[in-house]
Amino acid sequence: MTRHFLIFGPPAAGKGTQAGALKDHLGVPHVSTGDMFRAHLSGDTELGKVVKDILASGQLVPDTITNQMVAERLAEADTAEGALLDGFPRNVIQAAWLDGYLAGHRTKLSGVVVLRVPDEELRSRLVGRAEKENRSDDADPAVVQRRIDTYKEQSEPCIAYYKAQGMVDVHEVDGVGSIEEVEARIRASVGG
Ligand code: AMP
Repeated sequence: MTRHFLIFGPPAAGKGTQAGALKDHLGVPHVSTGDMFRAHLSGDTELGKVVKDILASGQLVPDTITNQMVAERLAEADTAEGALLDGFPRNVIQAAWLDGYLAGHRTKLSGVVVLRVPDEELRSRLVGRAEKENRSDDADPAVVQRRIDTYKEQSEPCIAYYKAQGMVDVHEVDGVGSIEEVEARIRASVGG
């Protein structure tokens, strides 16, 4: 049985940071669709050209493009035993696609970690990140708000989708606190 996990939550919830420790704990590679798209942007690839304006606006890349990129990544040798997916799925269509993909590979999700962080805290973290990491999609308050809204409208329903389906443990974790505190909460929640 492979081990595919999700780390889920709004922009600036700390998914990328927590994924660093969680992937080691779970023993699977970290697969971040946001990082993959940004690599295409900085590499100026064909895909990078297609998604440039979409990322800058804070909207979602079309599902067919994103799913294809994930399928190719999950077909690589290092993810044969599983992966910690970060930033994917971002809507229920992608969630259903992932279920189908995993079922086609005779496996299913092993766990979903949801980081809960209030909107006000997200906004101030996003502003701080724009200054520190020079991420243009974090710098503009309108884009920041759009990304939070997109999460609420399109991504958050994935949590209800997984709960209703009842096939995977959904671990909801308070994402406010020091990196170490949140990491300890995640570990206590996922166990192992
Ligand atoms: P992130 O680093 O996860 O916040 O992703 C940065 C941006 O990449 C998002 O605002 C989207 O434009 C795009 N993106 C990342 N993951 C996905 C996904 N699963 N579906 C569609 N767009 C995505």
